[in-house]
Amino acid sequence: MKASQLFTKTSKTHPADETSKNAQLLIQAGFIDKQMAGVYTYLPLGKLVLENIIEIIRQEMNAVGGNEISLTALQPKDVWEVSGRWNDDVMDVWFKTKLANGTDLGLAPTHEEPLTQLMKRFISSYKDLPVYPYQFQIKFRNELRSKSGLMRGREFWMKDLYSFSRDQAGHDAFYERISEAYNRVYARLGVGDSTYKTFASGGSFSKYSHEFQTLSDVGEDTIYVHDGKKLAINQEVYTDEVLADLGINRSELREAKAVEVGNIFTLGTRFSEPLGLTYTDENGTVKPVIMGSYGIGPSRLMGLLAEHFADEKGLVWPENIAPFTVFIAQLGSDEKVVAASQKLYDDLQAKGVSVFWDDRDARPGDKFGDADLYGIPYRVVVSQKTVQADNFELKKRTETEATFVSWQELTKALGV
Ligand code: ATP
Ligand code: MG
Repeated sequence: MKASQLFTKTSKTHPADETSKNAQLLIQAGFIDKQMAGVYTYLPLGKLVLENIIEIIRQEMNAVGGNEISLTALQPKDVWEVSGRWNDDVMDVWFKTKLANGTDLGLAPTHEEPLTQLMKRFISSYKDLPVYPYQFQIKFRNELRSKSGLMRGREFWMKDLYSFSRDQAGHDAFYERISEAYNRVYARLGVGDSTYKTFASGGSFSKYSHEFQTLSDVGEDTIYVHDGKKLAINQEVYTDEVLADLGINRSELREAKAVEVGNIFTLGTRFSEPLGLTYTDENGTVKPVIMGSYGIGPSRLMGLLAEHFADEKGLVWPENIAPFTVFIAQLGSDEKVVAASQKLYDDLQAKGVSVFWDDRDARPGDKFGDADLYGIPYRVVVSQKTVQADNFELKKRTETEATFVSWQELTKALGV
């Protein structure tokens, strides 16, 4: 992408009406725009970051046998009445609306009911199980408070996968597999070390559910971390009984603030029973399907990563999340400098490197400022001086000193 083709601009200052650091930074850098509290537009650079996060999750969900789908945001009332969750006292975050003829509709805050109903078309025999449909979708939730930028939206992206298994043993085995897949997702996003599988309340079909909590000072959750075992207990279930259950002493734990970046949940027959999702087993017996649900918040993760990887100059994305790998700062509009920039832009892209070329007629300081604020991992300066010396000035976003490198050294530094 060329800067001259990008419609967004950076700002010198943070937006005045934002208190959360992630929204401040992302708005200042032109990655997102605030439509209203808890509702954000993804602009070109932000959209690239979101897609990078989504792609990592997608690869890991496909690796455990997921089938990607896209369910509808508009929901009819009846299917939610069967489970009891149309009621606002049961599901307190509904956005509801009506058709022109007065028929009630809701904007999906989650998708257990419509998916369970859909699967009745495709599941009838033990041979049809197990299956793992999942999606990336915008969810709508009328959250009471929305002060954490992308971390708590009223409209936000969620990855939700649902498991449909024959029996408890099959369910338990998948639960472990996806738990490992979640660990790989957070490791690939660069927060593996600070993300803890956390025991949380379970519902009627299992004693616990598990949240994946990333340590953060701005986290809304309080957890008790066991560093040795790399696990944690959510405050909501932090009791002597649970500690005994896990064979852990209070003294081995430290209290920490954390952000819930995902969770996995055993649903049992909570939805299959009322909605009538059954299958016939090998002996001809009709049984309810055993279900689980598994969420990850790509929007929340983007906000968290923006805060986690930042310094006083702006964003500092890891390479696999960054909107581009290389930022070319073309200094001046001398013919030779333009030609050298164009060549570098083409040559790097030919090697599969994603490149942002700042081809604007702007001051060097503005270009360097944008490169830092955007958080692009490598900045390469092309100037009259570098053209004359037939080299490039390379600086990593995480370092302060630039070095002069040849084309060979540049590609080696980029690993291509
Ligand atoms: P929380 O307790 O933070 O409200 P939740 O228990 O309601 O989360 P789920 O319904 O399990 O969350 O949603 C799955 C994932 O979606 C969460 O783990 C989180 O990462 C993300 N998520 C949930 N609510 C929001 C929100 N309002 N904005 C952004 N991401 C969210
Ligand atoms: Mg919630």
